[in-house]
Amino acid sequence: MIKVERSEAPAKLTAEKVKELTEEYKKTEKNVWNQDYIKKALLDMSNNKCIFCECRLGEESKYIEVEHFHPKSKYPEEVVEWENLLPICKRCNGLKRDHDTKLEPIINPTLIDPRKHLTIKKFRFFSKDDLGKKTISVLCLNDSDRLFLPRVKIGDAISSILDSLGKWVDKIKFDHSVEDQNELISKMYNLLKSCQPNAEYSTICSYALFEDDNYYEIKNFMQQVKIWDEDLSRLETNCLNYSLIEYGHLKSTV
Ligand SMILES: [Zn+2]
Repeated sequence: MIKVERSEAPAKLTAEKVKELTEEYKKTEKNVWNQDYIKKALLDMSNNKCIFCECRLGEESKYIEVEHFHPKSKYPEEVVEWENLLPICKRCNGLKRDHDTKLEPIINPTLIDPRKHLTIKKFRFFSKDDLGKKTISVLCLNDSDRLFLPRVKIGDAISSILDSLGKWVDKIKFDHSVEDQNELISKMYNLLKSCQPNAEYSTICSYALFEDDNYYEIKNFMQQVKIWDEDLSRLETNCLNYSLIEYGHLKSTV
């Protein structure tokens, strides 16, 4: 889960339209929010990801569902209020159901930075306070089959990429080839790109990257031979700005 900037409401969702759809919902309980222009705007806002678990929406039965952060059953006036709508996957929607977020708040990532309330260790989310605790429990953020096992797989994949980059470093130390150096830059660039906030499960990707000692060894080497460039620094900083890892933990190494 990462902080997401709330985008502008879609142009078609005018104040008049909101009023009309809200009235229709109150009379008929129809799915008035189920509009393509609303779904598209929500997907654009979240880089096509579920706002809570960060799975990619629109692939393999993971279709977007329009989430009412404050449940429509209890707060019908907000049924198409743009600020109350979030892009969510079927599984997260099924877990949150009619949970009353006004009586028992959970994190709304468009309003609250999850880093203030959550942290991650060994591929599990931990809470820093009651808001984090409630968010983890309502959304089952450490569910074994659905979320924990895929996280371990991502961790394995990143660790194995870093392993292969480490071997590349050994090769460069031996033969000093410029082509090999360029190849290393390109591979590190791609790795950091794959951990950016727009990536699926980006929270887990950046955690796996920054928890791995190999990352710092490779980075140190690249800095020593002056091939750690501004693009790499920019990508690293962007990852860090969204990472659930404590920044203090990294200060001595970044
Ligand atoms: Zn989800």
